[in-house]
Amino acid sequence: MSASPSVSPEIRRRGLMLVLSSPSGAGKSTIARTLLANDGNLTMSVSATTREARPGEVDGEHYYFVTRETFDQMVADDEFLEHATVFGNSYGTPKAPVETAMEAGRDVLFDVDWQGAQEIQQYAHDDLVSVFVLPPSIEELERRLFNRAQDSEDVVRGRMDKATSEMSHWDAYEYVIINDEIEKSVSNVTAILASERLKRRRQNGLLGFVRALGVGQ
Ligand code: ADP
Ligand code: 5GP
Repeated sequence: MSASPSVSPEIRRRGLMLVLSSPSGAGKSTIARTLLANDGNLTMSVSATTREARPGEVDGEHYYFVTRETFDQMVADDEFLEHATVFGNSYGTPKAPVETAMEAGRDVLFDVDWQGAQEIQQYAHDDLVSVFVLPPSIEELERRLFNRAQDSEDVVRGRMDKATSEMSHWDAYEYVIINDEIEKSVSNVTAILASERLKRRRQNGLLGFVRALGVGQ
């Protein structure tokens, strides 16, 4: 019997970019939070925004809350991978942390709207995995927005008005999750992540591994 190869079974691989989009209130931040807590190889892309922090939101953790001047300077300095205006505020994805994480084989999670997802697709090509989160019903979406109790009634109405147009982009995504039970949604996204990580083209350390097994020599 030949000796087993002296290589680690942990195969080096390139990171992937997991984009989660949904109409506001459908639950993507809740899903994202649980995934991040459960998965040490997943890192969140923290966006910069000109919107006001909601109660409980922490600068540098949920967003970088910046002034309009700072945001415009970041755009001028080409610091964003993409940026867009959503509900009258500007949001942008800083480029540098994403590049660092991907090179280190870490996966990056993005909570962006459909415009951001499209632009990330241009940048990411095969590195992208996109998931759209739908609410189980319009009534439940409204209930969640009100229950979240972080926005005024006017803001909630504005978000409901935008929900249909945001949801019309569902078919530009590879995967669609209906977020009825949160545990099921999290386990579905976990399953997507697990199988996407195993794609052969992502496991760029495989060639060395199979050679050490004596294949192709
Ligand atoms: P989004 O990030 O898409 O705007 P959130 O994650 O903030 O949405 O969720 C909106 C509200 O709905 C929050 O109060 C959250 O706790 C609640 N929520 C999220 N997912 C579910 C679910 N599957 N069932 C019931 N409530 C949920
Ligand atoms: P919220 O104000 O509820 O945190 O986010 C409003 C919308 O902006 C959500 O649909 C969210 O996905 C999107 N968003 C957050 N950060 C970014 C970003 O960096 N780029 C883009 N394009 N959208 C973002």
